[in-house]
Amino acid sequence: MKILMTTSEAVPFAKTGGLADAVSALSLSLAALGHDVRIVMPRYYPIDRAKLELIEGPLGVPVGWGEEWAAIYRTTLPVPAGTEHEVPVYMVDHENFFGRDGIYGIPSEPDFADNPRRFSFFSRSVFQLCRKLGWYPDIFHAHDWPTALVPVFLKHGERTGPFGKSSSVFTIHNIGYQGVYAKEFFPYTKLDWDLFRSAGFEDWDRMNLLKAGLVCADKLTTVSPTYAEETKTSAYGFRLDGVLRAREGDYAGILNGVDFDLWNPSTDTYIPVCYDRNDLSGKAIAKSALQKEFGLPVDPDVPVIGMVTRLTEQKGVGELFGPSYGSAWSICQDMALQFAILGSGERWCENELRSLSARLPNFRATIGYSERLSHMIEAGSDFFLMPSRYEPCGLNQMYSLAYGTPPIVRRTGGLADTVENYVQETGEGTGFMFDELTPRSIYDTVGWAVWAYYNKREDVEAMRIRGMELDFTWETSARRYLALYEKLAR
Ligand code: ADP
Repeated sequence: MKILMTTSEAVPFAKTGGLADAVSALSLSLAALGHDVRIVMPRYYPIDRAKLELIEGPLGVPVGWGEEWAAIYRTTLPVPAGTEHEVPVYMVDHENFFGRDGIYGIPSEPDFADNPRRFSFFSRSVFQLCRKLGWYPDIFHAHDWPTALVPVFLKHGERTGPFGKSSSVFTIHNIGYQGVYAKEFFPYTKLDWDLFRSAGFEDWDRMNLLKAGLVCADKLTTVSPTYAEETKTSAYGFRLDGVLRAREGDYAGILNGVDFDLWNPSTDTYIPVCYDRNDLSGKAIAKSALQKEFGLPVDPDVPVIGMVTRLTEQKGVGELFGPSYGSAWSICQDMALQFAILGSGERWCENELRSLSARLPNFRATIGYSERLSHMIEAGSDFFLMPSRYEPCGLNQMYSLAYGTPPIVRRTGGLADTVENYVQETGEGTGFMFDELTPRSIYDTVGWAVWAYYNKREDVEAMRIRGMELDFTWETSARRYLALYEKLAR
């Protein structure tokens, strides 16, 4: 099949979140299964043009009251040595829209004022690019609000001539971000005003790009089955639950995979000694290295709780680090355990983590972003804590399962789909789960894991192995997407 991924991010070129990993990994897996997969994304300023190949001729893109001109560059996704297939990446270059730092914004302007123009332009350029290449995809696969207009344009205007048989799939990676702008931007799309309502843009008299994508795409997906169910409820749908309920029959959850080339304890170069499920001795060494690195007392017998996270509301940090009884402060005082945390994000939370690190002997946090420390924590911790408010898929719990570090998670989204709760009577399970997001539930569930560590050690060791045996590969996810594409093509 011919599949075009239309995206604002793809590793290794531009990344702000999991979307970038997912798009590239999915594309490579689809290509490995023998399909013609290509990616189109903007050429942001930091992407060096000298390393790209210029495709000749400027591309006219109809937007606003006329046309904007783009240059098109081409490169390919990096692949492991010996790989036969390739994934071409086209980059749409436009100095005024993308010749600046930041993908969606910069710290002083987190959401660029002209984002609706930038991404209208980009979404329209996708069709012009296909015409230029004479390559017409069976499937346009769009991701999140920045490319939500691709399925809208396909349905309203573009599905003619060589695009007559093209279909669209639209994937929600996080419904919390919707691209809502003043409706004065709407004419820039060149769509008829009739469509402002009928194509789903209208949102309390503003223009909601994600909502239009959800209304217009042929099929909708999100990144885990449980998140698909949750987003149809008012508690998780960020006001779009009604739209998703109306499209229930076309909406499914497909779990993301994990890049086991990068996240594999038997080949990891960031940890002192590699290990696998037949011999976990390297994990004990990783634990003492982690304790040393974080300035915690080096003690093999005390359980270490690890976290690697953005410090935002979504991740449950308000409950974990807030002032109520049951928060990290009381956990650390009441229980014989250690905390090793890596994260960055909201200022109050960073300050609170610094303060806890200074006041508690068994709590250490590093504020910042570090690939190396994130691997150290996954490997060296006994348990990995993710008390998320919502979690579309979540990667860290899958990493920790692979590293023999049972996750302690709230039963939501992808966490509910990847972790199996411990059953004390039988010893079954791969982690520890709770339902209510309250400091008390976190306290109790961490307490439960710590209790198991001291009193049911053989169960915990068996859980480690069971987690390491799980296999969340991208190939599995790619096959599910393919089934969906094929259904559409038929
Ligand atoms: P989200 O995409 O919502 O932040 P995920 O669990 O899906 O959550 O993915 C987060 C990814 O970002 C993981 O690979 C995680 O290790 C990484 N990450 C988050 N914060 C940091 C940090 N401070 N340092 C290193 N890696 C981080």
